[in-house]
Amino acid sequence: MNLKQGANGIRAELGNLQYEMRAAYSSYGKRMRYLGGVPEITSGREGSHGDSSYHYVGYALDFSIEGLSLSDQRLLITNMGDDLGELYDIVLESDHVHVEFDVARAFRRGYKKEF
Ligand SMILES: [Zn+2]
Repeated sequence: MNLKQGANGIRAELGNLQYEMRAAYSSYGKRMRYLGGVPEITSGREGSHGDSSYHYVGYALDFSIEGLSLSDQRLLITNMGDDLGELYDIVLESDHVHVEFDVARAFRRGYKKEF
């Protein structure tokens, strides 16, 4: 999996990524390769996201969709949704896919985190 090197020279920050994001990048990597794309993480914990973004606490990642047609981008998020289930939100943005593990929803539904 490639890591995007930003214009400022800072790589996507993956330190302290939460365990739940493994499933997300594993699904993305597999599905992206199947569609002929090159898997790349474009943002981890760094960058500027919304104030309460899950990015800052390691529960969200952004992934490249470069080279995919719009229909393949949609297929990618549909496939990832099948892989990841209802505790993850997968959002197709203009130049990336945002994936987060919705911690609040997970705990409301009785999710038990293993530390
Ligand atoms: Zn994001």
